Amino acid sequence: SAIQADEVDVVVVGGGQSGLATAFYLRRAGLVPGRDLVIVDAADRPGGAWPRTWDGLRLFSPAGYSSLPGWVMPPWDDATRGFPPRDHVVDYLTRYEDRYDLKVLRPHRVDSVRRADGDPGGRLLVTAEGLALAARAVVSATGTWDRPFWPTYPGMRTFQGRQLHASDYRVPGELAGQRVVVVGGGNSAAQILAEVSTVAETTWVTPRPPRFLPDDVDGRVLFATARARIQALEQGREHAGVAGLGDIVMVASVKDARERGVLHAQPMFSRLTTDGVAWADGTELECDAVIWCTGFRPALRHLRPLGLRTRGGHIPVGGASGTQALEEPRLHLVGYGDWTGPASATLAGVGPSARAAAAEITGR
Ligand code: FAD
Repeated sequence: SAIQADEVDVVVVGGGQSGLATAFYLRRAGLVPGRDLVIVDAADRPGGAWPRTWDGLRLFSPAGYSSLPGWVMPPWDDATRGFPPRDHVVDYLTRYEDRYDLKVLRPHRVDSVRRADGDPGGRLLVTAEGLALAARAVVSATGTWDRPFWPTYPGMRTFQGRQLHASDYRVPGELAGQRVVVVGGGNSAAQILAEVSTVAETTWVTPRPPRFLPDDVDGRVLFATARARIQALEQGREHAGVAGLGDIVMVASVKDARERGVLHAQPMFSRLTTDGVAWADGTELECDAVIWCTGFRPALRHLRPLGLRTRGGHIPVGGASGTQALEEPRLHLVGYGDWTGPASATLAGVGPSARAAAAEITGR
């Protein structure tokens, strides 16, 4: 089937921070956005996943440590000791796009990336509704927000209360006066618990005891540790990983929750009942809602037509950049997590992966 596709040098799928950072380096290597380089995004506004997170989300690092390549995030200063709110990031990403004139095409959800028929060394066809592009190289930077991860527990289907994932949660008011169980041991769970506990009766459950960073330590340490750990592993050394990206940063709201005495985690329940949750020892707790702060998986559905083998939900990557699909060298994956580059699923961490991917694609 012949598709009339526009030929471009590089297509970037996803215009969140990872797509923008990669586009920054592709542009610096001489590609002209809108001509050689086309960025396609499914959303109808800039900012990647950030506009869709809950209203009260705070970054776990100060603005100066949450920057993409080329332009430092403008400072944010208020009583929270400088941890910027979500909207500050949305504003930054919106201006970043403009600043480098990246010409993101939206809204177009890419449904397929595949090889042009009978031309294995040729171009990759990228299609979305109303759009067909034939590219020499494709960067997939679709993040994880579109694939919230729900674990399975017995009773989930018969529980009569409300279940929501952290990705569905917006404001605490929607849970006012209720009995709420918050599941998960990371920053999302801690921040959501902190604000929901101001208006609701909360219980926090985690599969492992949560790890809290010291009060004076923030996301900066997490980036440094993630990089050091990867370097150590590459050099065949052990690394204890004193702090991981999942460790809880004591932002103001979480400290406040600790002061109110609500920051105590219980072990994970073993099942849901019709009106609550139950532990293996027979203890039961009634509740009105369960919030699953159980993370995300890479959003890779659009790559299925390439038929690449996956390992643990990841597409094996390598090359000099560490982002090149091993079975499809014209495809790069940027920003999904440590498997595509140390701390690459963060604002400050994605730069090196983006630079390496752009260098490999352009040979510059
Ligand atoms: P996204 O921001 O998800 O962007 C992907 C883009 O691709 C979206 O715009 C989407 O519309 C688009 N897209 C998806 N599928 C398609 C498709 N098929 N076709 C076209 N477009 C598509 N990081 C920090 O540095 N500091 C923090 O404090 C921090 N806090 C976080 C708190 C939470 C709750 C979460 C979930 C993450 C946090 N992160 C933080 C991590 C990280 O910054 C985000 O996960 C980030 O959004 C990843 O950026 P991305 O560009 O890879 O993906």
